[in-house]
Amino acid sequence: MKLPPPPAAVRQIAAKGFDEAGAAALARHGWRLLQMRDAAAGDALVALLHDLAARSTARAATAIACRKGCAFCCHQHVSAHAIEVFALARRWRGTVPAAAGSACALLGMDRACTVHPGRPLVCRMVVSTDAGACEAAFGGAAVEVPWPRHFIDTAAWLVMALWAGQRALGLPARGYALVPALAAVVADPGLEARWYAGDDALAAFSTDADAPQPAMLAAADRLAGLARLREA
Ligand code: SF4
Repeated sequence: MKLPPPPAAVRQIAAKGFDEAGAAALARHGWRLLQMRDAAAGDALVALLHDLAARSTARAATAIACRKGCAFCCHQHVSAHAIEVFALARRWRGTVPAAAGSACALLGMDRACTVHPGRPLVCRMVVSTDAGACEAAFGGAAVEVPWPRHFIDTAAWLVMALWAGQRALGLPARGYALVPALAAVVADPGLEARWYAGDDALAAFSTDADAPQPAMLAAADRLAGLARLREA
């Protein structure tokens, strides 16, 4: 199946950053790919979202402190989107490790992510400008970890565009606990087809921490309206 290439308005996001028109174009392109209910189309959308995340945040003037081997943030709940879980499961070989302690089960012994090229959006976008603050927070101190505004805004646009397409197609728009959802899909690849059919086959792996904020859902629906997804 030939996949539609991203339109110019989407490609320009990397150079110009997000605005409402760019996000609407991304929502519409994502909607077209999701509509195919196909592994290759879903993987292409994941790759596009991750690429836009990297390119649009590379434009930020803020220097971030995140480095390979600094993994304080890998000790929190990790919420992934369904298509990210499906894409990662396709690349997975063997058994998904069980969590031991607070660390993400995908964190290596060298404190590097073992799935770095396929890590979910949240791991790409939740960054810090102060590793000392991350370490203090990891140790239990009540400190605020500085998360640059540009990353917060870019993450919000990406998620809104994805959810706009998902909701317009009647697909569940929520996060899933990465490791248990990944283990389930690796064990039963048929969960992907069920999810694309509108049955939230990963619901058992969605916790309170993965629940979408009503404001984000409303914003996604507004974007779907701007992109005219329901009329298309
Ligand atoms: S997926 Fe990788 S980057 Fe994300 S929390 Fe797990 S080990 Fe860390």
